[in-house]
Amino acid sequence: MVQEFKVLIGGEWVDSATGRTMQVINPANGDVVGKVPKCSSADLDRAVEAAKKAAPGWASKTMAERSKVLLKLSQVIMAHHEELAKLETMEHGSPIRKTMNFDVPLCAEQFEYFAGVARSMTGETLPVGPWCSSITVKEPLGVVGLITPWNFPALMVVWKLGAAMVTGNTCVVKPPSIAPLTTLKLGELAMEAGAPPGVVNVITGPGEDVGEALVQHPDVAKIGFTGDTATGKRIMNLASNSVKSLGLELGGKNAFVVMPDADVDAAVEGAVWSAFFNSGQVCAAASRFYVHESLYEEFVDKMVAMAKTLRYGDPMKMETVIGPVAYAAHRDKIEWYIDGAKKAGAKLLLGGERPDTEETRNGFFVAPTIFGNCANTMEFMQEEIFGPVAGIAPFKTQEEAVALANDTRYGLSASIWTRDLRNGMAMAGQIKAGTVWLNEHLIVFCETPWGGCKQSGWGKDLSTMVLEEYTMTKHIYIDLTGQPVKPWYGLLK
Ligand code: NAD
Repeated sequence: MVQEFKVLIGGEWVDSATGRTMQVINPANGDVVGKVPKCSSADLDRAVEAAKKAAPGWASKTMAERSKVLLKLSQVIMAHHEELAKLETMEHGSPIRKTMNFDVPLCAEQFEYFAGVARSMTGETLPVGPWCSSITVKEPLGVVGLITPWNFPALMVVWKLGAAMVTGNTCVVKPPSIAPLTTLKLGELAMEAGAPPGVVNVITGPGEDVGEALVQHPDVAKIGFTGDTATGKRIMNLASNSVKSLGLELGGKNAFVVMPDADVDAAVEGAVWSAFFNSGQVCAAASRFYVHESLYEEFVDKMVAMAKTLRYGDPMKMETVIGPVAYAAHRDKIEWYIDGAKKAGAKLLLGGERPDTEETRNGFFVAPTIFGNCANTMEFMQEEIFGPVAGIAPFKTQEEAVALANDTRYGLSASIWTRDLRNGMAMAGQIKAGTVWLNEHLIVFCETPWGGCKQSGWGKDLSTMVLEEYTMTKHIYIDLTGQPVKPWYGLLK
């Protein structure tokens, strides 16, 4: 059944001004499951206007009042646990096992975290001198635009929404065109939790249209963006006209380094997890594996054997661990990289084909794929594939491993697998990435900052650091000298 959805503007559910719609397709079987408004810049203007109208009221609430809305939202999310999980599985193909046990509970936890942590935000008193008082205060930015990707449709918006709301901003959210349904549902739940009309507005439509209009809107103070590096570059250009503040969480091509003293079995478990979780559609997914030559054969054999056991198929079944990738053109792009890797001479060890079973035939599936004997010069070892494809290469020395890990235009994350934590720490210091894990890969907590360097972007989501991203630090100076004429005025006399 095709469900019809509306967008959320100023607390009202409305159609696009033109009445046009876009289809949402279930990637597991190609069925059209929803229709959402195909908004344009006229709708976006209305959403920004609604957010602008709501901004003074929301900013003037106490931190405790805003925090309570977030806590309530966390509970409301869990009250709709199964509904949200099914919606995300349907629009994105992520297995229900994951959306039930990971995405939805984490969304609830995020709101809880921001509700708590924002209440201990402080300003500073600066020791300039006894003849003045110099303090800093944190103020909301006003209307913020949040543009999010499809790979974790709910979680990626919650990372930003929680921080932006609790610090007193009003939000215009532009969810991913192919998977906007969970974000629309979260907008409804935010209202149910007590967010006043206009605090959360959700506009669906093409990025090149409503996304660009949001980035260029003069009344939008900041864009919090998560998505592709190429889109991030475009947004930087467009935002320069209004000198808009930006947070950019972009692509990654993440290295996984296995040192000669690593626990091989632990590294293999971590490798399969970090390459294939969410069908590899994770910005921090490990996709370049550098394994010391002494362990190479053992690691490769064990990784291939374990990856073979991953059950792919209907994502609505609890036993499925690998669902389809998010849309047909994305499947085609992944297959193009797989062909390129074969042509470049990488050795295909597993997968590389479209699974053909009753459950996968009509969906956009790519089997977990592993290549050995890879070289960093191969295109697929440099470009973000964003699919279940791992490339493995042997190395001889630690210096070589660090150089290989750093041989990328991205700087999002990396992991080092070793029993020697002292040396691991030294290596972590040499790797240019926003996160380096030792004996782990992909794990992220509310309390830990998330964000990259190089072409993976800048700014931080999560942790207390994100509170800085959604506030402006204002310096207020109070003259206490009691003198109308200060000594420095003499410079003009
Ligand atoms: P995308 O850049 O195609 O789209 C992201 C969002 O931007 C969508 O809502 C889209 O509609 C919108 N958009 C597209 N063109 C736009 C434009 N010209 N102006 C304004 N908005 C526009 O990315 P995607 O394919 O949805 O997501 C995958 C990418 O996201 C990958 O590169 C992945 O690494 C990255 N990602 C990064 C992180 C991180 O934390 N660094 C997290 C998740 C995903």
